[in-house]
Amino acid sequence: MPTTIRSAAVIGSGVMGATIAAHLVGSGIPTLLLDIVPTNLLPEEEKAGLSLDHSKVRNRLATQAIAKLKKVNPAPLVSVEFANRITPGNIEDHLSQLSKVDWIIEVVVERLDVKKSLLERIESVWKPGTIVSSNTSGISINEMVEDRSDDFKRHFLGTHFFNPPRYMKLLEIIPGAMTDPEVVSYMTRFCEKQLGKGVVIAKDTPNFIANRIGTYGMMVTLREMLEKGYTVEEVDAVTGPALGRPKSATFRTFDLVGIDTFIHVAQNVCDNVADAEERNIFEIPAIVRDMVARGWTGEKNGQGFYKKIKSASGKEIHALNLQTMEYALSQKVNSASLEASKQAKGAAGKIKALLSTPDRYSDLAWNLLKPVLLYAAEKVGEVADSIVEIDNAMKWGFNWDLGPFELWDAIGLARSVKRMEEEGAAVPDWVKAWLEAGHTGFYKQEEGRVFYVSRGEYKGVESQQEVISLNQLKLQNKIVLSNSGANLIDVGDDVVCLQFQSLNNAIGGDILTMIQKSVDEVRRNYRGLVIANEGKNFCVGANLMLLLMEIQDEEWDEVDNIIALFQNSMMKLKGLDKPVVAAPHRMALGGGVEACLPADQIVFSAETYFGLVEAAVGLVPAGGGLKELARMASDQLPNVDADLQPLINHAFETVGMAKVSTSGYDAKRLGYMRSADTVIMNQDYRIYEAKQAVLRMDQAGYVHPKEEKIRVVGDAGKAVMQLGAYSMRQGGYISDHDQLIADKLAHVLAGGNVPAGSYVTEQYLLDLEREAFLSLCGELKTQQRMQHMLTTGKPLRN
Ligand code: NAD
Repeated sequence: MPTTIRSAAVIGSGVMGATIAAHLVGSGIPTLLLDIVPTNLLPEEEKAGLSLDHSKVRNRLATQAIAKLKKVNPAPLVSVEFANRITPGNIEDHLSQLSKVDWIIEVVVERLDVKKSLLERIESVWKPGTIVSSNTSGISINEMVEDRSDDFKRHFLGTHFFNPPRYMKLLEIIPGAMTDPEVVSYMTRFCEKQLGKGVVIAKDTPNFIANRIGTYGMMVTLREMLEKGYTVEEVDAVTGPALGRPKSATFRTFDLVGIDTFIHVAQNVCDNVADAEERNIFEIPAIVRDMVARGWTGEKNGQGFYKKIKSASGKEIHALNLQTMEYALSQKVNSASLEASKQAKGAAGKIKALLSTPDRYSDLAWNLLKPVLLYAAEKVGEVADSIVEIDNAMKWGFNWDLGPFELWDAIGLARSVKRMEEEGAAVPDWVKAWLEAGHTGFYKQEEGRVFYVSRGEYKGVESQQEVISLNQLKLQNKIVLSNSGANLIDVGDDVVCLQFQSLNNAIGGDILTMIQKSVDEVRRNYRGLVIANEGKNFCVGANLMLLLMEIQDEEWDEVDNIIALFQNSMMKLKGLDKPVVAAPHRMALGGGVEACLPADQIVFSAETYFGLVEAAVGLVPAGGGLKELARMASDQLPNVDADLQPLINHAFETVGMAKVSTSGYDAKRLGYMRSADTVIMNQDYRIYEAKQAVLRMDQAGYVHPKEEKIRVVGDAGKAVMQLGAYSMRQGGYISDHDQLIADKLAHVLAGGNVPAGSYVTEQYLLDLEREAFLSLCGELKTQQRMQHMLTTGKPLRN
């Protein structure tokens, strides 16, 4: 077994193979991508005089797949230039290269015969010790290698990625009967840490965990709707966020996955399970087969359960009427239960509200949930060892907010089991015995630890050392300081974490006050500070609503106070003589970026969307963001003669266009990453990694950086930037208001009206920021931009 995986080969460059290769290179693993050799020339190849023997033709499938990776949305690559870390090839000419890699992943068509013969060829060049895995969606791992040697079998397992691999957290690992347990535990750790995945261990049963239970749920839904006459729109209104599931609900999901693909997956269960009743559920309804026969397979073919139609007024969504097989304008669905669910908070609250407001839709919700909960309970032990694996698989693979057992607890285990039994449903014996033993839920929390039922008793959920849960620490009374916007939490080893907890983690006065108090606290009692939280996003920026209210009341002193408080808090944070590490995840915008930049180090999660977007709401960053960009540009200069202008131009363009990084790595391209900053793949590890960085700095004898003056481009450099903005305006690319904002940005970034090459203090630049910000607040068009963002969530170009 390799000590660590440093290189990989993916065989099959289709939808999954190419995107798995993209994820691997994004995780730092150079990857060989192989496919079959084409048997025909394309017209353009013929025209170019190529023959079937030419390497360009022989590698064509993989080469084209790599080219496509740069165009697909959502982007499979964290950064387009990473595409050149994938080497294309074919399985005839490059098979022997498989002996040089540490991990080989088979991602070819879902056919046992094809997979078996490919594995035979792989073994012919296999270097003992190399890990080999299959990305099958549901074919038996054991059958695939039945003809292979024992040594090969010991190194073979299933690694089932979900589509799209970069974004879907779930990875099912399926050990075969002979897989070496060390290989399983090594791959589990590796896929969690290096690939950032949420791993569940599945048993070698048809479709493994998520696709078995998820497909069952979809089959039950189809049957219920056909029997009771619900429409496509009605089912989707119930089975989306109202049930703690994604907006794509049932039928948008069918269309996205492809109805033909779905049939294939469901058929696999039908063909491979012994129980006749279960087989019956997975039998595809004739109407769905009919849709595929008509080519209505979903989005890839332009229509499925929904169809987008261009009309005079733009795009219209039409939904299929399963009675008439005709499409009609999609109808909005509402009812008392759906409304109650919409108003309720959190997934558990929404589901409870839906179920407890009796009407036609709460009936549907119950009739869909009941069989899925019972099915999940029946499958414990068969598809996975524990309820935790099943819950995680459904959350990470199907984006459900709650796994079936968590959901069951949320709606009241005893009460719902009683209702199920009254309605004649067969509740698995283990569930009945658990209730009879006096337990009220599958899970329980005790002193900040989570326990789950396993073979008739509570067992502690294994926590990974690298996952620090602030929520758990709160339950263990580790809060050091707290107010309505933020907490300071003791994360152990004399390190504390500043956690935002406002709505959308927007920064207001309470968070700023807490930043200041935290600095005092850390200075007195701790080794360092982490800035991170467990919100959906790290921080969407400063509290715009508050600011707009003050502006509309013409409370200019108040607006000035808000900026001063922001700037002073950031300066205080920057002045802390202990290590500070920020660990943003997902969205970190505007003020969220400014709260990270004073830190000594930023630990970016791979999926971080980072940018100073103030221009989009008619403002300029004034919490130290521009000052920090000017500082970073100045610090990057190798010597006093080096040209600062290109660096400042780049910052000007980034902020002027309110660019946001498309990943943690992309923050580097935008110029937000300093040399000490890092990117980690597993977002769940961010607080731990940030804490480790604090400890490392502390142990190395942290010396607080001395404040150096910042070199600026001055008035000559400002003119360069302003000329750029003027040309954009003349070309019709930006509006008058955009140009005004750009002028203000140029003024601050250039250091105002000083000679080129001057050195200025941080406070001087902060004053320029504040002045520019305040002047823009008085502009009607800026106020309109802010209002528009608050009401629609989208930028206004005025
Ligand atoms: P696909 O049809 O898009 O691609 C299959 C690729 O395999 C093609 O490029 C084909 O040329 C190549 N191929 C076929 N035989 C080959 C061989 N002998 N050697 C090398 N290459 C060969 O299929 P896909 O959707 O990428 O699925 C691939 C595998 O991943 C299947 O096992 C599928 O069940 C599984 N999977 C798919 C999804 C999904 O959403 N599409 C999700 C999870 C798992």
